Amino acid sequence: MDLQPREQRYAALNLLHQPVWVFDIDLRRVHWANTAALQVWNAGSLAELCARDLGADMSPSVARRLAQYQSDFISGDVSFNEQWTLYPGGKPVSLTVRLSGHRLEDGRMGMFNEGRVQAAEQPESLRSVEALLHTAVMITLYGEHGQPLYRNPAARASVRRLDETLAERIVDPRAHAALQATLAETGLATQTLAVHTVEGQHWHEISARRCSDAVTGQAALLVSEVDVSAIKRTEAQAQYMALHDALTGLPNRSHIMQRFEMVMGRLREAGHEAALVFIDLDRFKDVNDTLGHGAGDTLLVEVAQRLRGAVRASDLVARLGGDEFLILMVAPDIRSEIERVRLRLMRAVAEPVHLLGREIHVTASIGVALFPHDGSDVQTLLRNADLAMYSAKEGGRNALAYYRAGMADAVESRTALEAELRLAFDLRQFEVHYQPIVEATTGRIQGAEALVRWRHPQRGLVAPDVFIPLCESTGLIRRLGALVFETAAHQQAAWARAGHGLRISVNLSARQLRSAELLPDLKQALKRSGADPRQLQLEITESMLLGQDDSLLSLFQALQDLHLGLALDDFGTGYSNLAYLQRFPIDTLKIDKTFIQGLDTNRALAELIVAMAQLMRLRVVAEGVETPEQLAWVRAQGIEFCQGYLFARPLPVAEFEALLAAR
Ligand code: C2E
Ligand code: CA
Ligand code: CA
Repeated sequence: MDLQPREQRYAALNLLHQPVWVFDIDLRRVHWANTAALQVWNAGSLAELCARDLGADMSPSVARRLAQYQSDFISGDVSFNEQWTLYPGGKPVSLTVRLSGHRLEDGRMGMFNEGRVQAAEQPESLRSVEALLHTAVMITLYGEHGQPLYRNPAARASVRRLDETLAERIVDPRAHAALQATLAETGLATQTLAVHTVEGQHWHEISARRCSDAVTGQAALLVSEVDVSAIKRTEAQAQYMALHDALTGLPNRSHIMQRFEMVMGRLREAGHEAALVFIDLDRFKDVNDTLGHGAGDTLLVEVAQRLRGAVRASDLVARLGGDEFLILMVAPDIRSEIERVRLRLMRAVAEPVHLLGREIHVTASIGVALFPHDGSDVQTLLRNADLAMYSAKEGGRNALAYYRAGMADAVESRTALEAELRLAFDLRQFEVHYQPIVEATTGRIQGAEALVRWRHPQRGLVAPDVFIPLCESTGLIRRLGALVFETAAHQQAAWARAGHGLRISVNLSARQLRSAELLPDLKQALKRSGADPRQLQLEITESMLLGQDDSLLSLFQALQDLHLGLALDDFGTGYSNLAYLQRFPIDTLKIDKTFIQGLDTNRALAELIVAMAQLMRLRVVAEGVETPEQLAWVRAQGIEFCQGYLFARPLPVAEFEALLAAR
């Protein structure tokens, strides 16, 4: 290596006592060194030092730092101070090195190093100097006017501009002012703040301490920063998840409870009232069961959005889980506020939802508990709103009920009823009554609908609307359904033997239709009773036909093979989808009593349905005929069969037989 030109160029520097050397960043070699530097580097000669490959065991972070320095030198007249530890001859020597840019003879950017050997160092501080260079903690020393005096490599890699002040680095000027205020007061501050970095905005935990610059002795600020963005993110996420429902994004139960606890004190002061509104979707389980959970979820998201839109922005809408929602409303006169929005809430749920190419209708049962009237703490209010919701459901769903004292007793009696229901099977307390189905023109009894009753020792005759839902929720429905069908089959056979050819219709619940036991149960009953399956019919409702086409089709095929008839019950109350009549082997259509009794304003729809059914050669039965006027309308429509109190109520077997004998 020819060192002559360099010798001449740098000769004067040999006079310095402080070590000075030039570093070739690209080659990772010392380019030139003065005598003092040769000592520090523990080199026998300049040629020997220049021959050392310093890149050989250079850590990647040091290599990155060098590259960074090089580009900094090229872009501006800058210099940095670093604490270095060199190990000439295996003994640590600590230096403060001032680094600046320096063009080599061939024009490439090199680095000019001026070292200042420090007094004998404690191993502790040696380590801390090393740590300073290699740590991920960003350390900056700011001067009196906020200008950066020193940045460690981590800090340099993080800033957008090397000359950026602390004020420029902190995103929120108020946060910076607060930090300065604390510093002015105590000389020390630690805060988690949003800062600008080359990678965008990050969260840093900043520790700042007032000190004096070791070089100039002037006031300075030592700032260390740790990136806590990841922690912040998971923290924020965890907090969000803890307070929100993942599916709908609405606040969840604990959110609303916390919020209520918070506002309660203020409510009392302001003399305001509040309400907890408990909303439960009716028959949501049917949607889930027939269309699948994905469709159920979509429905919930839709309903959540609509509920949110139905109330004021200041009201809190939460999802409790499942198909339950809760709204916290605050107003000076809460009752009139509830009355103002009740229709909007009902509609938010009742408007059809389009799912899988179908229109789905659900309704809601809503319970309301008022603060402070129905409870002064959130637990009590929630329980009472729940009870009120329950009573809305019991009252036939799609309704809103306010909490009343005594509602808890009703639930208790329901729980008692549930326990008694299990015993009712063994005690043979179920009876099947028969309501005649007659020819509209002649009044001749053509068949009957089997309707189950529970003869309760204390309560008397309990109606199916009370205990069928209980049977469904407890899984007893399969047993009950099998019992009713078998009883009806025996009755059909008995009446046939007595010379009465009557067609008996038996109701099926949704849960039975999906049970794998249904077919075996039916077959067994037919076999044991010797009934004529052509004179037996099963009644299902439209809502049971949603979804699951293939499995239902094969079930209906099996029913056809058994020669059992199929009737569509309560037609006109739900979707009134005539397509079902084509898709499924249905032979009888039962027009719901709301049409017959003129309760539904849309009688034109009823007339259309009847006309279609007749075109399709379906048997049509008018349900709930109570008056001669209704019968006249039924006849005018050309409806063939009637069922209703005008002819007879559901009757016990003996009374039914008396009626048969009388005609
Ligand atoms: P549904 O299938 O619609 O049965 C007709 C209901 O209308 C019966 O009530 C009947 O008493 C009533 N009804 C008949 N004629 C008139 C009338 O002229 N006016 C009025 N207002 N009502 C009339 P019931 O017996 O209380 O049955 C209620 C519901 O319970 C039935 O409605 C049916 O869905 C269910 N149900 C009854 N028995 C069974 C059963 O064995 N299994 C299943 N799964 N459900 C049953
Ligand atoms: Ca029925
Ligand atoms: Ca019906």
